[in-house]
Amino acid sequence: MTTPQGRHFLQIPGPTNVPDRVLRAMDRPTIDHRGPEFQALALRVLAGIRTIFKTEQPVVIYPASGTGAWEAALVNSLSAGDRVLMFETGHFASLWKALAERLGLQPEFIAGDWRHGADPAAIEARLREDRGHAIKAVCVVHNETSTGCVSPIGAVRKAIDAAGHPALLMVDTISSLASIDYRHDEWGVDVTVGGSQKGLMLPPGLSFNAVSEKAVAASKTAGLPRSYWDWGEMLAINAKGFFPFTPATNLLYGLDAAIDMLHEEGLERVFERHARHGEATRRAVRSWGLEVLCQEPAHYSGSLTAVLMPAGHDADRFRGTVLDAFNMSLGNGLSKLAGRVFRIGHLGHFNDLTLIGTLGGVEMGLEVAGVPHKAGGVQAAMDFLAQQQESQAASH
Ligand code: PLP
Repeated sequence: MTTPQGRHFLQIPGPTNVPDRVLRAMDRPTIDHRGPEFQALALRVLAGIRTIFKTEQPVVIYPASGTGAWEAALVNSLSAGDRVLMFETGHFASLWKALAERLGLQPEFIAGDWRHGADPAAIEARLREDRGHAIKAVCVVHNETSTGCVSPIGAVRKAIDAAGHPALLMVDTISSLASIDYRHDEWGVDVTVGGSQKGLMLPPGLSFNAVSEKAVAASKTAGLPRSYWDWGEMLAINAKGFFPFTPATNLLYGLDAAIDMLHEEGLERVFERHARHGEATRRAVRSWGLEVLCQEPAHYSGSLTAVLMPAGHDADRFRGTVLDAFNMSLGNGLSKLAGRVFRIGHLGHFNDLTLIGTLGGVEMGLEVAGVPHKAGGVQAAMDFLAQQQESQAASH
């Protein structure tokens, strides 16, 4: 392998590229986490992060990866043996279920085919059967990072209400937060799980629980053991601008800058940008004659696109070719999709030219790796993006 030239193209669906402004914001001496400068920073980011979840309620920030926030959501609000209804959207839903099992919960999957988001009607039907309200929580992954399918969370909320069921609603937004429209309060979500390393444009290392009043009330009686993850002490100490343990100070400086950047662009524009890049990518994929994994247009993801390899061609070999030839990382297929799909991340700090570079690497990689395809995918994406720019210019 020759020494890679130029900047690495990190086009996996997270961790994503960190903007220079965020890197600069973190590039400073670590401060006393019990001093006034930290307090001002903490109060600012604890308020600011709520706007990203679209909530007026508290958001807990952990110095942990997303898995920690998954665990925190469950141990704070549930008791051993509680039934939890989960939807099998893909690899990450399966990991969350396995975690729930290890904690002594009784998770139950509504089976999915890893090519669609969650089905609210199936959730409603299952909840209607549960007349004794044994199910204590419904858990859904908003954007399933292994498949590129988005679940309709507003409709899941309506399904729970239509069934007249009191279960808590917990949603994983690790690869949708700050990329795909999400409304913690409006959709009546009780715990939203988030992570720093995707739409928030930060390095890995922070994760979040946005918590409703109902979730906080449930935590008062929930029996699962917890200490580090406990919301109670965290919320009490956060209210004063501090943490019960050493916070990830420099990541919080980065978060402060990232929140500013998202608001300068405007959240709705951030979502439109991601949707546009998703559409451009799918046009490229179809022009190559390849298949998008997600089968339901209403569930297409603005964060990533998973692409099925033609039969007889290994996705990991293809990704290896792209890495060697073009210094670009694409996402791999996870668990049962291993070798069968590659994933193009188009989220976070990303623009039209980042996408064209990415798709250029894919198209050339298909050629170099001898994967059967038609030329013209990059052109199809360029045509779409140029047309979008034209209509935007015309409307101003
Ligand atoms: N949930 C989703 C949807 C994810 O994409 C990921 C990671 O990619 C996780 C959970 C797990 O998060 P982490 O790897 O940060 O622990």
